[in-house]
Amino acid sequence: MDKVKITIIGAGCVGLAIAHELSFEHDDIIVLEKWDSFGRDTSSRNSEVIHAGIYYNFNSLKAKLCVEGNKLIYEMCKKKNIPYKNCGKIILATELSETDNVEELFKNAKKNNCSGLELISSKKINEMEPEIKGISGLFSKTTGIIDTHKFMKAMEIESEQNGVTFSYSSEVVNIDHNGEEYEILIKDSDGKKFSFLTEIVINCAGLYADKIASLAGIDIIKEDLRIDYYKGEYFSISNRHKGKIKRLIYPVPTPLSLGLHAVIMLDGSLKVGPNAFQIDTINYDVDETHRNEFFNESTKYMPFIEEADLQPDMSGIRPKLFYKNTPYQDFYISHEKTKGLKGFINLIGIESPGLTASPAIAKYVKQTIKDECL
Ligand SMILES: Cc1cc2nc3c(=O)[nH]c(=O)nc-3n(C[C@H](O)[C@H](O)[C@H](O)COP(=O)(O)OP(=O)(O)OC[C@H]3O[C@@H](n4cnc5c(N)ncnc54)[C@H](O)[C@@H]3O)c2cc1C
Repeated sequence: MDKVKITIIGAGCVGLAIAHELSFEHDDIIVLEKWDSFGRDTSSRNSEVIHAGIYYNFNSLKAKLCVEGNKLIYEMCKKKNIPYKNCGKIILATELSETDNVEELFKNAKKNNCSGLELISSKKINEMEPEIKGISGLFSKTTGIIDTHKFMKAMEIESEQNGVTFSYSSEVVNIDHNGEEYEILIKDSDGKKFSFLTEIVINCAGLYADKIASLAGIDIIKEDLRIDYYKGEYFSISNRHKGKIKRLIYPVPTPLSLGLHAVIMLDGSLKVGPNAFQIDTINYDVDETHRNEFFNESTKYMPFIEEADLQPDMSGIRPKLFYKNTPYQDFYISHEKTKGLKGFINLIGIESPGLTASPAIAKYVKQTIKDECL
């Protein structure tokens, strides 16, 4: 039977970043992806924001890997000519009761070692963004936007040049562990099956990462690793408002999401989203009847919008982990040796800021392999 040293399951931005990072030190890497190209799920269905690391709990992986990822991603954009804009962002209090939230976020961000932060008054908000309404805000200079497709393409190209094999239309359908190695069974788009052996498995299967963990023999219910799906829809804002705001504008966050924010695309066009609600099965429809919710939320800080300016655009789905019924606040990244799976690394619940953190996640996984798997 064929053998490969390292198998990465999933070619979203996280799988690609790991393949890219490992390709400079390791030979014999394969990336398995069930679609016929990279980044077809969550990695192409997000706000494309390079986050600063403001929101996440001190010392969490999310905080550390986001702050590190922010720097790495800008470096990579410059080095590889990936389109990006370091536009900055303002988190707004639109009611007096929210000013404390903004100040708390500022303190938290400082603890997380975020740079380029400033608490700003309504006067300053008005100078910076005359079309925006807010009573106070937190300005983040290091937040930006990126062309995610080109980011992923650059990582795919360089990984291939370094010898990584990308096997598209290859869905992992079974994993057997003989104590030493893993036998991976894949199914292609014609339904043909093929299996091979591998020493190290890195599970970056996004919305299906819990299913892959389960194929490897992990009891995902007992271990609190079952993913729930939380959809986030976006509505586009009419192009007559293109260019009206220069910075990303966010409300204060909710326990489930960063709130319905104004997204700026690289061409200056605007969107608003994402909302957050649970779904049972994966589908990317946008419910037109949600327009009113989007209108009410966005006009709290973008009073220039009229309801007819909003059109259903796209959606993405968050892979949410819950720990004892409360949203788990961190990424789950674990070498599962204590579960009897030496060489098996799970990345589960890689929701926002997974895009920003991806290059730092890759370095973290590389170190884990070096310290624990070889
Ligand atoms: C609405 C929304 C907005 C967001 N906004 C931002 C943002 O602005 N900034 C930010 O930093 N982050 C953001 N995120 C988070 C970010 O998009 C994700 O963290 C990131 O894309 C996750 O990448 P991934 O590679 O882990 O998953 P995915 O992109 O989902 O990739 C997983 C891949 O695994 C493949 N796969 C699954 N099962 C199998 C199998 N059995 N066999 C083979 N392949 C398989 C899938 O086909 C898929 O291609 C947002 C997320 C959402 C939902």
